[in-house]
Amino acid sequence: MNMSYLETTDPEISAIIDKETARQVNGLELIASENVVSRAVLEASGSIMTNKYAEGYPGKRYYGGCEFHDMAENLARDRVCSLFGAEHANVQPHSGSQANMAVYFTVLKPGDKILSMNLSQGGHLSHGSPVNFSGIIYESHQYGVDLNTEQMDYGIIAEMARKVRPKIIVCGASAYPREIDFKAFAEIAEEVGAYCVADIAHIAGLCATGIHPSPVGITTFTTSTTHKTLRGPRGGFILCDKEFAAPIDKSVFPGMQGGPLMHIIAAKAVCFREASTDGFKKYSEQVVKNSRTLAETLSSNNVRLVSGGTDNHLCLLDLTNFGITGLEAEQALGNAGITVNKNTIPNETKSPFVTSGLRVGTPAVTSRGMKESEMKQIGEWISAIMQDSKNTGLQDKIREEVKSLASQYPLYPDLT
Ligand code: PLP
Repeated sequence: MNMSYLETTDPEISAIIDKETARQVNGLELIASENVVSRAVLEASGSIMTNKYAEGYPGKRYYGGCEFHDMAENLARDRVCSLFGAEHANVQPHSGSQANMAVYFTVLKPGDKILSMNLSQGGHLSHGSPVNFSGIIYESHQYGVDLNTEQMDYGIIAEMARKVRPKIIVCGASAYPREIDFKAFAEIAEEVGAYCVADIAHIAGLCATGIHPSPVGITTFTTSTTHKTLRGPRGGFILCDKEFAAPIDKSVFPGMQGGPLMHIIAAKAVCFREASTDGFKKYSEQVVKNSRTLAETLSSNNVRLVSGGTDNHLCLLDLTNFGITGLEAEQALGNAGITVNKNTIPNETKSPFVTSGLRVGTPAVTSRGMKESEMKQIGEWISAIMQDSKNTGLQDKIREEVKSLASQYPLYPDLT
């Protein structure tokens, strides 16, 4: 990338960016929550739109000079509504956690009950974890997966909901490889008089393209990030019916945030346009095909997959059979240029800093153009390292092979 001005004015930060560029270019990114944005998204998010304060909403700002920011935000809102078939969108949340916060602020009072998925079995911090605002402000009750099938059991969740009588039920996960039945959640919520919040942060790209059923129009609120399977800039958004438009907007601003990140909103608009194309649908299909191929390859090498497989962009690996922890596996694979993250698994016996599992996802490598045959190769590399995790010679050898594969799939083919 041409960053010649930065190179001259701030060589220290420029050198750091160069190192990170080399890491991304030469390695394989298998962190399920990451992706590689398009050059257009990159340009919009690095644009002059960052210079402006635009507190408020299009047509009702607290600063002058917002006419072009109004146009950008209107485009982002219209595009995401049309992408998901939603009545109303708020594209200002700086992140997925803040999108969730805004929904909670809209319908909950401190001390109200929320029912959501346990962090250690696939949920997210912002779903009521005791170390997060959501678990501190609200009374959090959590469901997990059935420990035999390692999948959600809607009968058990319904029973919990009847007992707890929560004000909201959150569905959606950070480390759940299976399809989520949003309709079942909405029915449970309706039965107990709760609002239903679908957090599609991970699977937004799959929902937008119909590869995973979408919760929009089914649950009361949908929250999401833009930077995972949706392949946009880092950020969040909220979708809801018109009925909740005003209170949701008020919760985001002035309730929770000040000035929106207008360069990011411009980049979100670019991402929503890209996600509505046939090319993005093909990409999303390939993400899931790649994930399945990776899962099959790992499984045929005796790696146990939580829930036995995957329906989406990620798989969760149980490393217990190999006698290594998630932390050790993350480090060993990192040495070989394969970036993954350690992850707790159902029935976890270790701390979240150690864990017995790994989460691997295919959005980023698929964005680079990799397909099933590359996934088989990556699965073989991961398996070989799991079987011999202390062998640094093997890690060095694989790192060279990874570099060679990566060089055939440039991050930005159109950039020199
Ligand atoms: N919700 C889910 C399900 C997530 O997986 C994540 C992030 O990993 C978030 C919310 C929060 O997103 P952010 O990191 O942008 O706050």
